[in-house]
Amino acid sequence: MATQNTDDSSQKRAFQDLADGEVFEKARDAAGDYMAGVMGQRVYPDEQGMAGLVAFDEALPEGGGDAGEIVEQLHRVGSPGTVASLGGRYFGFVTGSALPVSLAARWLADVWDQNSAIYRVSPTSAVLEEVCERWLRELLGLPDETVAGFVSGSASATFCGLAAGRYRVLDNLGWDVNQKGMNGAPPVRVVTSKDIHATVVKAVALLGFGIDNLELVETDEQERIVEAAVPELDSSTILILQAGNVNSGSFDAFDGLCDKARSVGAWVHIDGAFGLWAAAVPEFAHLCKGMNKANSWSVDGHKTLNTPYDSGVVLCRDREALVKAMQAIGSYIAYSKNRDGMLYTPEMSRRARVVEFWAALKFLGRAGIVELVSNFHLRAKQFADELQAEGFTIVNDVVFNQVLVGFENITIRNHIIEHIEASGECWVGGATFCGHSVIRISVCSWATTADDVSRSVKAFVAARASL
Ligand SMILES: *Cc1c(COP(=O)(O)O)cnc(C)c1O
Repeated sequence: MATQNTDDSSQKRAFQDLADGEVFEKARDAAGDYMAGVMGQRVYPDEQGMAGLVAFDEALPEGGGDAGEIVEQLHRVGSPGTVASLGGRYFGFVTGSALPVSLAARWLADVWDQNSAIYRVSPTSAVLEEVCERWLRELLGLPDETVAGFVSGSASATFCGLAAGRYRVLDNLGWDVNQKGMNGAPPVRVVTSKDIHATVVKAVALLGFGIDNLELVETDEQERIVEAAVPELDSSTILILQAGNVNSGSFDAFDGLCDKARSVGAWVHIDGAFGLWAAAVPEFAHLCKGMNKANSWSVDGHKTLNTPYDSGVVLCRDREALVKAMQAIGSYIAYSKNRDGMLYTPEMSRRARVVEFWAALKFLGRAGIVELVSNFHLRAKQFADELQAEGFTIVNDVVFNQVLVGFENITIRNHIIEHIEASGECWVGGATFCGHSVIRISVCSWATTADDVSRSVKAFVAARASL
């Protein structure tokens, strides 16, 4: 290994890389090359692309590598092993693409290498967070007092929202959870639907509520919580609802449940990982009625908004509860009168992920967001119509961006999935929905066109013909 003052010390080599800039040009060329191909390339990597990844399996290098070659290897070996979720024919899970402006903004932000912990270490990042917090309130119609924490995704955002709820509910019962912990605390009831997202269950476990203590409520044929089956709520309750069920895309009935919760002082968190954006679109007002009456919300940038990973936001109308829950102490932390982002997040050091979030919002504007989200819905309906015309069965109401295709049994379903994956034409995943074996189609890429949908329907038809 090179040591400090020799000619090939890593410090010297890094200065050289900075001076000639070649490594950055190589990265730009590789990214350009990737982007030029990604819209047309097969969606799932082929066998060769995945097998080639063994080239990464090297012994830990003793000596240093050449920066340019490192970037070249990444492209040569890594790019063929990627899934083309950046393009318009990836419909797996709920995986958004990334808007070009958002990717480009992130590149610049990466060069800045800012730490968003506090204003003192990155004024730019703090100001952009404040701006996005305000824009989100306006766009989603949330209360004026709502604050935002910029985290890595909805799993983390839900954790933060529920931590704020835990702080508030226990504080109301005269218990400071930060000081006294959960041992011996008054019981907190957590009420939610039996079809809540896995990451909500994860947060429930992490926060010490206990999965066995969840009060799970019946759901209807769209996996919405059955309002009449929700038990009596009280001031020791956290109620978790969802805007956008991960399978059907359905929305819980917020209005009545939020009123009920409010009247007894219960806390309501809404998991709106991809669905919260519906609140920005007048066409979906009926789905979002009463959504703004909750106490906290979680939403992703990297799904519906099409920012790159990792981008999620916790929104909370009770600033004190969120700040207390995320409590950060330390004599060297220089809080200011300006926004200090770490007050609202579990992390201290954080990359300036708000940059690409801001760039996406600014590029789209209110009208562009309406267009983007409405287009997901249009393309989802097109998918459902064309599949039905081909004799497939759609088992959900296509209210948002999700389409569920039913199959007789799991063997047939899996055969279709595998055939489609091998064709490279598009990518879809499976799930069980209300007892049906289904294929889930999630439309959430800005790049998806009507042609992409028709081409993907053809892949379904070809897969069925191969049975
Ligand atoms: C994707 C998703 C999550 C988890 O979000 P991440 O950003 O992956 O952490 C939570 N809830 C729902 C409904 C989702 O679709």
